[in-house]
Amino acid sequence: MYNVFESMDQKDHEQIVFCHDSDTKLKAIIAIHDTSIGPALGGCRMWKYSSEKDALTDVLRLSRGMSYKAAIANLNLGGGKAVIIGDSKTEKSEILFRSFGRFVDGLDGRYITAEDVGTTVKDMEWVRMETKYVTGISRALGGSGDPGPVTALGTFAGLRACVKRKLGKDSLEGLRVGVQGVGHVGYYLCQHLYRAGAKLFVTDADKESLKKVVNDFKAEVLGLNDIYEADLDIYAPCALGATLNDLTIPKLKCSIIAGAANNQLEKESKHADMIEDRDIMYAPDYAINAGGLINVANEIEGYNRERAFSQAQSIYDTLMVIFDLADSENISTHMAASKVAERRMKDIAKLKNIYLPRKNVMGKRDSN
Ligand code: NAD
Repeated sequence: MYNVFESMDQKDHEQIVFCHDSDTKLKAIIAIHDTSIGPALGGCRMWKYSSEKDALTDVLRLSRGMSYKAAIANLNLGGGKAVIIGDSKTEKSEILFRSFGRFVDGLDGRYITAEDVGTTVKDMEWVRMETKYVTGISRALGGSGDPGPVTALGTFAGLRACVKRKLGKDSLEGLRVGVQGVGHVGYYLCQHLYRAGAKLFVTDADKESLKKVVNDFKAEVLGLNDIYEADLDIYAPCALGATLNDLTIPKLKCSIIAGAANNQLEKESKHADMIEDRDIMYAPDYAINAGGLINVANEIEGYNRERAFSQAQSIYDTLMVIFDLADSENISTHMAASKVAERRMKDIAKLKNIYLPRKNVMGKRDSN
């Protein structure tokens, strides 16, 4: 039998909410991992899980990841995530998402939702009809819109930090960068790299996306699997997860791995150590790709694109802090990133609990 409390205890989760509505056929799980820094923010994934246990395992894993991502990005947010069990192609409806919205509203701001794999801005607009605790709304409705450009800018800032640290350079002029996946983030990353004078090598399963970066940024196309063995200074994974594994790491010729993809390490500690042993600098994925979270987090205080872009630039400094700790404690950058995030969660949890007027999480302090 699956032991829910034991699973929560293993990674220190605060709360799980099982949401069920027989009229709308909603079956959702909201997991709140840690709210010591602020309300738990994290997307709502819609997926056809093969079992309820798989859905629960996924939401626990993802919500914990959000705590670390928010903590390291210096946001005043905790980590949470939701999953809706169902087929995102055939089982979506207005009432399903409005029903989910009511459950989110019932948490009164402890959890703030957003779009994720299988959900869209339109779905979040249905959620918003029932709750204000939702981000990732379209620009037209005052939201933050496509996070791709902000994520790309943050990734570029992180990549510059890696170049400074590993190669001792402030400029990217002439560096050979391989970008794997030139979609919403990869395209804009290529734009920054091209403007900075880097030589671009790209791969993507989609021919149209490739054509655009070849035309716009004079990129050279590589085969889908050739990117691992290519003669590159920097490998920038911006497509799938788990591309750093037993098969690919030994092939890499680059000295830096810095890209936006989520969950790049197939097995976190093992593959972080393998990369370290090869003397390759790895920018921890959730630190370098935090621009997307920074973008939606900005909606909470009223979206301001300039502020979001400026916060994304600070990923440069965040990576420097991680590299300093990794050097001083002789640990992998992956391990150092976890330590920096955990330290911030613990430090803020220690803040003295003096009386303050009740805070409304979506804005100002309440007057009463
Ligand atoms: P996207 O779907 O727009 O782009 C991904 C691209 O990768 C597509 O063009 C796709 O054709 C290509 N691709 C798929 N399989 C491939 C393969 N085997 N080899 C090469 N290319 C392949 O997604 P995105 O929004 O650009 O996000 C890219 C990555 O960054 C994802 O891992 C995502 O989780 C992560 N990420 C995105 C954001 C964001 O703001 N969009 C934020 C944080 C993290």
